[in-house]
Formats: sequence, C-alpha cells, structure tokens
Amino acid sequence: MVALDVSHSRRRRVSDAAVPQSVKGRFRRLKTRIAVAGSAVFFLLPWIPWNRGEGRPYGAVTFDLAAGRFHLFGLELRTQELYFLTGFLLFAALGLILANAIAGRVWCGFACPHTVWSDAFLFIERLVEGDRRERLKKREARLSGRRIAEIATKHALWIALSAAVGIGTVLYFGDARVLLADLVGGRADPIAYGLAASVAVTVYALGGFFRETMCKFMCPWPRLQGAIWDPEALSVTYRDMRGEPRTSPKKAVELRAAGKPAGDCVDCDLCVAVCPMGIDIRQGPSIACINCGLCVDACDGVMGKLSRARGLIDFVAWTEIEALRRGEKPLAPRIVRPKTAALAAALFGLVFAAGLTLELRVETAMSVQHDRNPLSVRLSDGRVRNGYTLRVSNKTDQERRLKLEVLAAAPVEVAVIGGETAAGEILLPPDADREIRVTVAARPEAAGPLTFVGVDPATGQDVRISDTFIR
Ligand code: SF4
Ligand code: SF4
Repeated sequence: MVALDVSHSRRRRVSDAAVPQSVKGRFRRLKTRIAVAGSAVFFLLPWIPWNRGEGRPYGAVTFDLAAGRFHLFGLELRTQELYFLTGFLLFAALGLILANAIAGRVWCGFACPHTVWSDAFLFIERLVEGDRRERLKKREARLSGRRIAEIATKHALWIALSAAVGIGTVLYFGDARVLLADLVGGRADPIAYGLAASVAVTVYALGGFFRETMCKFMCPWPRLQGAIWDPEALSVTYRDMRGEPRTSPKKAVELRAAGKPAGDCVDCDLCVAVCPMGIDIRQGPSIACINCGLCVDACDGVMGKLSRARGLIDFVAWTEIEALRRGEKPLAPRIVRPKTAALAAALFGLVFAAGLTLELRVETAMSVQHDRNPLSVRLSDGRVRNGYTLRVSNKTDQERRLKLEVLAAAPVEVAVIGGETAAGEILLPPDADREIRVTVAARPEAAGPLTFVGVDPATGQDVRISDTFIR
C-alpha cells in the first residue's frame, strides 16, 4: 500500500516564495543549458531560410496565415489538415504523461516556457538587486534614489526581454527579415503589433509577477498531475529516515556518541530558500513541486561541505521511500515497466500514423455523384447517356489543370459541361473545390463499372474515382 502525503510549505512566508536564492549544482546547470538551447531554437528558427520557390514563405518554420499553411522545413500542412494538430496535441499529452511516469513534473521544472522565462527574469533580478538576502532586505528598506534606479533598471530589462519574446513570436508569421524591418520601422500590420504586445505583456506579467502562482493555481497540469501521480516515478523527495531527527553537526556527533539517533539534516533551510515554489520538501511530496532539482543541488552542497553522503534530497521513487521506512532493501528504480512501455508504444504509433498519413495524402481529391432522375437517357442513335456531378478539390496553393478521361467496358464519349480550357482540361483554382457536370454517352454494352481519371498534365499524377454506367 502506498501513501501520499500532500503538504504545502508552512515554514516560508508566501511573499518569500518569489525571492528564491541562487544555487549551484548539476540540476541548476542542466536547467540553464536547456533554457539556453530552447531560447536559441525559439529565436533562431524563423531566420533559417528554406527554399520553396519564388513567392513562397522564406523561413524554415512559418505560419502562413494568408494562404492557410504551416511550413515546417520541407513539410507543408494546410488548414484542412487540422487533424495533424490534434495528433500533435495527443502526442504532447502522451509525452507529458510518459515523462511524468518516469520523472514526475520534469517538464515543468526544466523545459516549460514559463519556467524558462521565469528563470530569465530571476536572473535579471539577481543581477540588478542581488541575491535573496539582499532582495529581502531591500524590500523592507525605505525607498532611496538608488533603489528607485535599481527597480527601474530591472523593469526596463524585463520589458526588453518580454518585447524580444513578443517580436520573436511574430517572426514566425512571415519572412523574418521583412517583418522585423517593418516592425522596427513602424510599417507592420497593426495585428503584428497587437500580437507582439499581447505576448510581451503576458511574458512580463507571468515572469515578473506570477511566477510560482502560475504553476500552482493557473496551470491545469498540477491538477492532472495529482490524478496521475505515479509512485514509481523518480520525484524529488526527502529521505526522512536518513534526515530525521534534524540536528546540528556538532550535536549530531554528541548524540551519536551517546548512542542516540541523529539525522543528517542540519535544518539549515537552504533547500527551502532556493525553492522557486516556496516548498519545504521535507514535509512530504507536494503537488506544487515542479521537480526542478534545485533543492537537491542545495542539499548536496550542504552535505558535501559536511563530508556526508549526497542524496538526502534526491530524485527517488516513492516506492523506495516506503521500502526504506519498512526497513526493506529498495528495488532499483524501474524506468521500463508496462505503463511506460505502453505509453512509448502509443507515441511511436502516433508518429508512425502521422508519417503514413503524410505519405498517402493526396493533393487533388475527387468524388462523384450519379444523376438520380433520370438515371439514364436513351439517345436517338441507340446509345445511352448518363449524367454525373464530379467534385474536385485542389489542396495546393497553385492553380492546377486536370485532363479528364473515363475508363469503361466499351468506348465512351465524355462531355464536360462548362469550365474546360481549349485543350479540354479542367482548371482548378488554388485551395478550392469545383463541381463539374459531366455526361458519358456509350453503347448499352458499356453498362457496368466505370472510372473517372483526372490526369495532371504537368506532373503526370492522376486521381481516380469509380461509379456505374447504367443502360
Ligand atoms: S521542492 Fe525542490 S524540486 Fe520541488 S519545486 Fe522546490 S526546489 Fe524544485
Ligand atoms: S538543505 Fe539539506 S540539510 Fe539543509 S535543511 Fe534542507 S534537507 Fe536539511
């Protein structure tokens, strides 16, 4: 039986949560590297050129709203293909659940954009106002000219960063070189300014003022996290059986010499001070913990200075804690287990399905409806005539032409009623559907299945649809 205690911090004032202390360590380094790599990708992607031909979008990743297209390097998705977005969202959700089953809220702690820009805002704050102790002191102090200058500098840098993210977002919606010049030169569309401003204001508000509040109360993921919490996931946990009872290093030596219990936790509160969420993880797993590992770094640093083993706070499966509490030897963490294997298989299946759909997708589609009344007409020369309505969709952003042929059991005479070019081809405007009236006349022996074939003379590709010729 696994028990989960959920507890919010009671030791740290809520107002202190937004003033976390800096910390050094392996998880801090990993967070910084992920943030730098993620930011580099975000800001550089729209500048990578991709040759799609004259007059087509320039960037490797571009949302071409006017043409209703999303370009991702060589891949082009149309608005009619929204199911790819559904597939992507499903993939992202399953990916999050898989990451959660392996290592809890690591997405939140390391890669979520809100975490990344909150970290960047905190970095600026520390740069201008100093580390936690100084900032807390300055909060209580009276305003001076120097303090006002510090606050103004901090907000100016925050606004510059927010504006960069806002403008960076807009560059995904066209040619980055032109858009940037237009935005800076005041020539851009008001919608572009509106989008840049709304993204910038959101980043400024969330990164500057609603940091941990966003993760605790505004984001839906923690609520879901509570429901899908996995006792085998490697989550940041305090090894209480090792840390308790808390005592100073000096007292611990005396207690141990007297044969009394003394834990490794020296109650320095550093793990609490560095936590961006204001959690005291020693009180038990918390639904608000984003698994960022900063308290692990803090405690490892303390343990290192005391020449004690690291890992008093660590990424640990709850099942291990339970086993240790029962005095049993814990089993090694199981990354591969039925749940993670099933989720990985589902992700693989989604990628496979998306690849197959892309491979099989058509640029021109055709459907047919036979005339109902009359089904056929007997002509004076003994032949029979049937009428059909063809619906042809051109899913490309280029005009296309189709040469229509009909395959039947006997020779047929085909007539397209309106819309043909002089060469007998059907014109299809870009991104459009067309209805075409077609009559087929033939000897009664042609009765039976027949196939309409539309051949694109430029590419030689064809599209086919079958129906029946009725005598
Ligand atoms: S308790 Fe530790 S891992 Fe959880 S949010 Fe706080 S610092 Fe990060
Ligand atoms: S950092 Fe480690 S030693 Fe210090 S209070 Fe936290 S758990 Fe205890």
